[in-house]
Amino acid sequence: MLILERVSLKKFTTFKIGGEAKFFTIVNNLKELEQIINFLENNKIKFFILGGGSNILFSDKGFDGLIIKPKFETFNFLENGEVIIGSSRLMPEIVYEACRLGYQGLEWAGGLPGELGGAIRGNAGCFGSEIKDIIKEVLSVNLLNKEIRIFKKEECQFSYRSSFFKFNKEWLIIEAKINLKTNNESNILLKIMNEKIEYRKNRHPVEFPNAGSIFKNIPIDSASPDLIEIAKKKNVIKGDKIPTAFIIEYLGLKGKEIGGAKISEKHANYIINFNNASSQDVLDLIDLVKDEVQKKFNLKLIEEIEIVN
Ligand SMILES: Cc1cc2nc3c(=O)[nH]c(=O)nc-3n(C[C@H](O)[C@H](O)[C@H](O)COP(=O)(O)OP(=O)(O)OC[C@H]3O[C@@H](n4cnc5c(N)ncnc54)[C@H](O)[C@@H]3O)c2cc1C
Repeated sequence: MLILERVSLKKFTTFKIGGEAKFFTIVNNLKELEQIINFLENNKIKFFILGGGSNILFSDKGFDGLIIKPKFETFNFLENGEVIIGSSRLMPEIVYEACRLGYQGLEWAGGLPGELGGAIRGNAGCFGSEIKDIIKEVLSVNLLNKEIRIFKKEECQFSYRSSFFKFNKEWLIIEAKINLKTNNESNILLKIMNEKIEYRKNRHPVEFPNAGSIFKNIPIDSASPDLIEIAKKKNVIKGDKIPTAFIIEYLGLKGKEIGGAKISEKHANYIINFNNASSQDVLDLIDLVKDEVQKKFNLKLIEEIEIVN
């Protein structure tokens, strides 16, 4: 077990923002994980589990505890369409391999950044699908008491951008068993995957560091009648949600800058780090958007990204 000190977190996030972690470790197996749990117990410090860093904002002040970066890389295709995958495998790699080998059910996630563990924790989704659709069970370890447990899909409590693991941060996801269909039309699956990747390149500001959508979309039943009317007129309602990007754009906030951070002109629910933004620049922009939306529509936006202090 190797514990590093004073590690810059910037390079571990897609936002390219963040100070130093007091301690930082990579865990490769259960034995090392047990040593880490002992270290946490002995030193009484806080911890944070880091995946691909594509959904978080670290503070410039850094993290006064231990950053745990799991490296669980199992990748086992079984014959009945089940696949066992380590939580640290990157989603783009998982999606590509599944499509290439003719396993259907993950094409929608073409271009989704991050690792499997992060996707499960936040029930990542797009194009009308979510990671929960393919999860069978999740193997996880409790960092406070060393319990190892298999969570059946129902026990994961998946909902919109949420799961049991979001609110029980002591559970580190080790691997998951997922269910895909054996299809064998790998050319078709790869084509669909590539279309999703292309769509993202055209619609999302991937040329700048960012952390994906900043806010969750708005469930229609929590929106005011005047907002619903505007959204209906503009024909932007998707399923049971009003896209937050639409609201931000409607309020004329696209392109708004604070320091090195800016509300993307390409997709208004993205904040880009266009010029060495500080974490405070991003937080100030988040506050500005929340204030404007609250004032205009009496609506409290909820962050989709995690702000880590
Ligand atoms: C350009 C861009 C586009 C995006 N598009 C989408 C999209 O379409 N849909 C969508 O849902 N999201 C999207 N995102 C957000 C992000 O990609 C997803 O939320 C992703 O699933 C986060 O995974 P991660 O590994 O990067 O997690 P991280 O950002 O590293 O962590 C996120 C959370 O997961 C926890 N976590 C990570 N790994 C584990 C683990 N092994 N065990 C327990 N907890 C863990 C962390 O502690 C943290 O709380 C996008 C992001 C970017 C940058």
